[in-house]
Amino acid sequence: MKPPRYIAASTVAEASTILTAEEGAHVLAGGTDLVVRMRDGLVRPAALVDIERIPDLAAIDSVDGHLRIGATATIAALLESPLVRRLAPLLAEAGAQMGAVQLRNLATVGGNLASAVPSADLAPPLIALGAVARIAAVGRERTLPVEEFFVGPHRSALRRGEVLTAVGVPPPERGSGAAFVKFGRRSAQVLAVVNAAAWVRLQQGVVEEVRIALGAVAPTPLRARTAEELLRGEPPDPRRLEEAAAAAAGETKPISDMRASADFRRHLSRVLVRRALEQAVQRARSRGWDRVL
Ligand SMILES: Cc1cc2nc3c(=O)[nH]c(=O)nc-3n(C[C@H](O)[C@H](O)[C@H](O)COP(=O)(O)OP(=O)(O)OC[C@H]3O[C@@H](n4cnc5c(N)ncnc54)[C@H](O)[C@@H]3O)c2cc1C
Repeated sequence: MKPPRYIAASTVAEASTILTAEEGAHVLAGGTDLVVRMRDGLVRPAALVDIERIPDLAAIDSVDGHLRIGATATIAALLESPLVRRLAPLLAEAGAQMGAVQLRNLATVGGNLASAVPSADLAPPLIALGAVARIAAVGRERTLPVEEFFVGPHRSALRRGEVLTAVGVPPPERGSGAAFVKFGRRSAQVLAVVNAAAWVRLQQGVVEEVRIALGAVAPTPLRARTAEELLRGEPPDPRRLEEAAAAAAGETKPISDMRASADFRRHLSRVLVRRALEQAVQRARSRGWDRVL
């Protein structure tokens, strides 16, 4: 079998041109997911288009309070960024629970989403924060809510020739708080058995807006809309949070695999959503955005 051709792209347009022209060409970012899948014979790329050397694609910056995280920013860069800690500490909270240090130095934010695995740890926090995916190809750009980026296991909304260039996160809102909770068979360094994130905005003691997202309990990361509906306009008291957590568990469609049974995943969903909501509400009350970590 021929080894894949390796091309180091120097612009997004160049990467896109190759990806469009060459059937079987794959983007290579940190390689922590793709190389493992190649080793296991699950994917056989004809060409690898390395995007790590494209200038600006690794930048983390902000415009008008909106955070922009370049697709090739590593998880380590996410953790070290003062901007992320100020504008979206939830992402640093999730990144801190991903892999070990060697993995965090290689794995990218874009790769975490583009691999489109249901358990991707950055997916629930980005969905809960209302983030958008920025996508580019030669001569065209588009944005998509991260929630709509996932199509199925290992299938994203990216079309042939498209590169995920960045994620954009809206500014933190007054009275809001967020939390991420992950359960893996070891505390970190592994894919999640279930992960969950919640974001709430309180106004005069009631939930004005809320977003709840779960991972590893359906073919794609899941937004728990029925649970959210139960909370909107209500005081976030323990009974209400428990009802919402139960509703969220009811919205999951988990499978049994070597990591956990479907029943256990459903049970965990309830526990994790409840914890994420409690913590998010507590943070919204104390406006502890800068004290998350
Ligand atoms: C030991 C180990 C532990 C892990 N632990 C965790 C964990 O705790 N949590 C977790 O969520 N994941 C974990 N992972 C999975 C993986 O490391 C992450 O999902 C990582 O963020 C993938 O990023 P990458 O840059 O390495 O992607 P790559 O492997 O380079 O790419 C992954 C896929 O996305 C595509 N792609 C990458 N970037 C782009 C882009 N910008 N545009 C279009 N397509 C793109 C590639 O073509 C490929 O199909 C772990 C993996 C290993 C091996």
